[in-house]
Amino acid sequence: MPMSRKIELSFVVPLYNERQVFPQLVQRLADTMAAAAFPCEVILVDDGSRDGTRALIEETCHADSRFRGVLLSRNFGHQRAVSAGLDHARGHCVGILDGDLQDPPETLLEFHRKLREEDYDVVYGVRQRRQEWPLKRFCYWAFYRLLRRLATIDIPLDAGDFCLMRRRVVDAIANMPERHRFLRGMRSWVGMRQVGLPYDRPGRAAGRPKYSFSKLMLLAIDGLLTFSEAPLRIATWFGGLVASGAFAWAVYIFVWRLLGDASDLAGFATLACGMFFLGGIQLICLGILGEYLARVHNEVKGRPIYIVDRRVGFEASDQPAQTLEPAEVAM
Ligand code: UDP
Ligand code: MG
Repeated sequence: MPMSRKIELSFVVPLYNERQVFPQLVQRLADTMAAAAFPCEVILVDDGSRDGTRALIEETCHADSRFRGVLLSRNFGHQRAVSAGLDHARGHCVGILDGDLQDPPETLLEFHRKLREEDYDVVYGVRQRRQEWPLKRFCYWAFYRLLRRLATIDIPLDAGDFCLMRRRVVDAIANMPERHRFLRGMRSWVGMRQVGLPYDRPGRAAGRPKYSFSKLMLLAIDGLLTFSEAPLRIATWFGGLVASGAFAWAVYIFVWRLLGDASDLAGFATLACGMFFLGGIQLICLGILGEYLARVHNEVKGRPIYIVDRRVGFEASDQPAQTLEPAEVAM
């Protein structure tokens, strides 16, 4: 039996310019693996770092065979980096965690116990106390509640990507060809037996956040648009509302005229306001349509989700699970 078949737990860690936190991360992962009573591996995915993280990953993988590196050809973004990691993980269970130690690696062992003892397919972390800026916390809070209202599937509140999944769930996700990946939604979409466990989310162990405000907004929009068609219906609802209002207004003017005095109703300002208001609404609706269209456009292009530059610590026979085999950059 090949070694890979025996791995019980794979840790998937995406890394983008995480040189500062890297030594702590490797230590915590090594301690966690030592505490586990079964074979583990770590898939470190380099998402196009430019601060030396890549060299640190290579060094670690050469020194310790439990660590394996997947080095992407450029920065593809967190969700795609995690997807690359999932495709390369070979454990019976796969855990996803951030590289900045905001998701404690030891907690994945608790998730593993729960998954095995109570026969779950997915155990995900529910963020309880977050040590982040109040505005950021509020944005997360509002986003999860908006998503829950709009999404066509049941996506749990305050659950991020931090989770442990059984092999069959990982394979189901790897077989989803979509380019706009919102993994916490895709995980819910798979279904099976899932449970959330609360955990305290500490602050970043070192370094600065790698998710800029615009990247976070894009992730939020991806989540909303790929799991809901409600925004598309806004135009219809609003059109109905404005048309009804306009009709009522016309009836009102007509009655006023019958009574003989309509002079103070014919105002240029009223007309201009109505025109700009409606124009604005139309542009917003066009914008929403455009967002969906852009996503359709990206999907039909059918490009790979990521490109692997190099793998470190893999044997030649190890093939990623992804059905759409990512093209390799020739060295
Ligand atoms: N990350 C990544 N690619 C990116 C941005 C972030 O792989 O383009 C990684 C990052 O290195 C970290 C994880 O994703 O391991 C979460 O990023 P971050 O801590 O910046 O996000 P936040 O906690 O602020 O949401
Ligand atoms: Mg973080």
